[in-house]
Amino acid sequence: MADIQTVVVGAGVIGLAIARHLARRGHEVLVLEAEGAIGQHTSSRNSQVIHAGIYYAPGSAQQRLCLRGKAMLYDYCASRHVGHARCGKLTVAPEGRADELSALVMRGQANGVDDLYVISAAELRELEPAVAGAGAMVSPSSGIVDAPGLMLSLLGEAEGAGAALALNAPLLRVRPLADGFEIDVGGEDFTLRCRNLVNAAALGAWDVARSITGFDPALVPTRNLAKGSYFSYAGKSPFSTLIYPMPQVGSLGLHSVLDLGGGVKFGPNMEWVDQVDYTVDPALRPDFEAAIRAYWPDLPDSALQPESAGVRPRIWGPGDAKQEFVFQGEEAHGIKGLVQLFGFESPGLTACLAIGEHVGGMLAN
Ligand SMILES: Cc1cc2nc3c(=O)[nH]c(=O)nc-3n(C[C@H](O)[C@H](O)[C@H](O)COP(=O)(O)OP(=O)(O)OC[C@H]3O[C@@H](n4cnc5c(N)ncnc54)[C@H](O)[C@@H]3O)c2cc1C
Repeated sequence: MADIQTVVVGAGVIGLAIARHLARRGHEVLVLEAEGAIGQHTSSRNSQVIHAGIYYAPGSAQQRLCLRGKAMLYDYCASRHVGHARCGKLTVAPEGRADELSALVMRGQANGVDDLYVISAAELRELEPAVAGAGAMVSPSSGIVDAPGLMLSLLGEAEGAGAALALNAPLLRVRPLADGFEIDVGGEDFTLRCRNLVNAAALGAWDVARSITGFDPALVPTRNLAKGSYFSYAGKSPFSTLIYPMPQVGSLGLHSVLDLGGGVKFGPNMEWVDQVDYTVDPALRPDFEAAIRAYWPDLPDSALQPESAGVRPRIWGPGDAKQEFVFQGEEAHGIKGLVQLFGFESPGLTACLAIGEHVGGMLAN
């Protein structure tokens, strides 16, 4: 039976960022990943947007980690040659709603995003001729990142610092010991012992928590799944920045998602679902077309194709107040060496490096 200092469950962008941080700090780290490759779920099924941090509750972990993570991510991508672009974002107000833009600027400022400003309809036309609107809020620090490239880089650094990755290795059961954990792993079927266990399994975090012998089920939050689908546009992007509609409750609305090759897709929508299913329903096309034409009236007919979908792992459901990231450490459950992450939806990609640092701070050795 192997003895390892720290096991991280999940090789998405957050698990890998945690593993990288801990390995570079001298931890002996093993990452367990249920799939045959890294990043097959949420981390490769998102908008790849580096968020500025405008909308989170002031003082929340989401807000703090988004701002710190954004700065860390830009520096990281530049130094590690990970594809990214600080392309900026326009939040476009439709006719009659331009007055609301200054409130969005103030909301961002309250969160420490101090570079936001409002432009007029004429300035918007000059900046992005394809976009129609009564004005827009400009967020210069928003951008895009190559999420698969980022994950490969994080893995490379973690491995370079001595971490190991086990693929096709789902965590099945956990038995807490006096000083650590005994873990049964599927696939090759082996058992190992570790001192620290980090549950970064995202959509699988609930099953991991329930697999821990004696773990109080009352501490496992309710799992809610919010699916977001994307449609691709068959042509070059008509915009050079990210184009967002005004934000809605529970979603930032159907926005343009630029890729680093000059293409564009649109999404994600928001649909509460009962199970994880990544198929995109072609019948959503008319809804997408209508939402996109609100800011891009010249979207040609039949130019959108179903592309991909992701599922937000949420701890809040329909009608609930929005909840923020949950980090459960020893003070929450009384189990030394156990850190569990629940509800890591957006901006988890933007914040991943800051999340790695934060989880590192929760584990003494
Ligand atoms: C539609 C959508 C759009 C988004 N857009 C953005 C955005 O633009 N910007 C942004 O900052 N964030 C965005 N996010 C959020 C971001 O994608 C997530 O916060 C982030 O990817 C979560 O990373 P993760 O590592 O926690 O999850 P994942 O990438 O899902 O990784 C978890 C891993 O755990 C593995 N696993 C599960 N159970 C087990 C088990 N029992 N044993 C071993 N392994 C297991 C899974 O196979 C998976 O690889 C978006 C999310 C969605 C869904």
